[in-house]
Amino acid sequence: MVAIDGPAGAGKSTVARMLAARLGVPYIDTGAMYRAVGLLTMRAGIEPPFDEEDEARLEALAREHQIELVPDPAGVRVLVDGEDVSEAIRSPEAAAMASEVSAVPAVRRALVPLQRAMATASGGVMEGRDIGSVVLPDADLKVFLTATPSVRAMRRYEDLQRRGIETTLETVREEQARRDLRDTTRRDSPLMVAPGAWVLDSSDIGPEAVVDRIVARLEEIGAGRLTFPMGEP
Ligand code: C5P
Repeated sequence: MVAIDGPAGAGKSTVARMLAARLGVPYIDTGAMYRAVGLLTMRAGIEPPFDEEDEARLEALAREHQIELVPDPAGVRVLVDGEDVSEAIRSPEAAAMASEVSAVPAVRRALVPLQRAMATASGGVMEGRDIGSVVLPDADLKVFLTATPSVRAMRRYEDLQRRGIETTLETVREEQARRDLRDTTRRDSPLMVAPGAWVLDSSDIGPEAVVDRIVARLEEIGAGRLTFPMGEP
């Protein structure tokens, strides 16, 4: 397994998708799973700050709905109980809600075993915030992909523009700062550089060059086999 973690807008999804395609292995987007729970939370009308009762309802949402990642030429489609929510989970509102629900330990307890099961079943490239630190601490290679806040905000802004989502660079910058703060300071599985992770700064290099460097590193360490032998989830 290759684990790719890092803050919002560092280019993780693009790099993870391209890397998986290059290696011919599955791409597993764990953020999409938190976004799916975020969407379910919005639909259920549950709003932060969450009290204990809300947290129990969030856990039930995460456990009782079937969240599936289906490989697709464009990356991955996300299904909730068979409904394709791939577009809906990409809105800024869903991103903000994903960040809120992912700070709830019971939600993480529901999703992490699913992620480990996917890794065991298929191997591949798994992307998120806690993959190297919590989900797959024994991954063949752990990458912490980062970039300066202004580069990350600009990338996210351009991405939203391409998808026709109206916003301003300043709004993106503020939302990103809020999300980074929440992701790095939450008590359960905060975003961090996992022990043994390789920190790669993509501020000045494009995704192809990042992928080239990761492939070279995999060759160096001899990790040709990217399935992951897991212990107990
Ligand atoms: O990567 P993406 O932007 O899709 O993730 C959405 C949110 O889900 C992140 O802001 C983060 O709060 C949360 N997340 C997480 N753990 C992961 C992946 C994502 O907490 N492994």
